[in-house]
Amino acid sequence: MKTYHNSNQNNQKQPKNKKGLIAVVASLALIIIALAIVLPITLSGNDNPQQVVPGPGPDLPSSTDPVTYVSPLEESSVAKEYSMDTLVHSATLKRWMTHNGVDFKAEKGSKVRAIADGKVESVTNTNLDGNVIVISHGNGLVSIYKSLGEDIPVEEGDTVKAGDVIGYVDVTMMTEMQDGAHLHLEMTLDGKQVNPMDYLSMGDEK
Ligand SMILES: [Zn+2]
Repeated sequence: MKTYHNSNQNNQKQPKNKKGLIAVVASLALIIIALAIVLPITLSGNDNPQQVVPGPGPDLPSSTDPVTYVSPLEESSVAKEYSMDTLVHSATLKRWMTHNGVDFKAEKGSKVRAIADGKVESVTNTNLDGNVIVISHGNGLVSIYKSLGEDIPVEEGDTVKAGDVIGYVDVTMMTEMQDGAHLHLEMTLDGKQVNPMDYLSMGDEK
């Protein structure tokens, strides 16, 4: 008896519920349509300024601050390219190995310049790499200059501009002695080795 009564009540209410449901669905649909129209407009409005700037490759720095790169030497030729995928022959170590930088051949004593604005992180001397300068350029980008001579006109903490003289070409890197006077230039992005030529090609090669 009770069960029947209840189901009867439900039957009576059902048409009302249906109407209510239709109204709810209709208004939801309206809201969704309205959002679908408004959202893309709002989003594209926000995105446009960023989309104008062409995104650099995954290994290149964020291009929000324009960075000027200069060649580390006024006159030089690339004696050995960056090669982390292919082995290149080391005349000094007499074996085939990767090369984590670019070797710029130049006269001993040639001025070595900072490739971009930055801060001198360290000036060190090790048996393996000779005199070494590390400069950070922001955005996780660091340049490392090896095989430099004793005379180093900058010290740790100095701020340098692109093109400032930071040292002189020599033959102090033990692992590359047989290659003669040259600058061994490395670059890292967030601690990972990258090809310096990718960056230098973005600057004025003069
Ligand atoms: Zn080298």
